[in-house]
Amino acid sequence: MHKWGLAPSSGCKCGATEQTEDHVINDCPIHRPPHGVRGLKRLDEDTITWLMTSCLEI
Ligand SMILES: [Zn+2]
Repeated sequence: MHKWGLAPSSGCKCGATEQTEDHVINDCPIHRPPHGVRGLKRLDEDTITWLMTSCLEI
């Protein structure tokens, strides 16, 4: 979003300096999906709930 001029900075709301895919999926205490990549590859109830309620701007 920042690279395209759609966000004022590349930082994440959790305080990380860059909100990369890797950061969001693996490390972010705010946006990380409940079961990481495994839950995204094979959707489970927790990940579906996370997708429905996530406040990510993607
Ligand atoms: Zn974060």
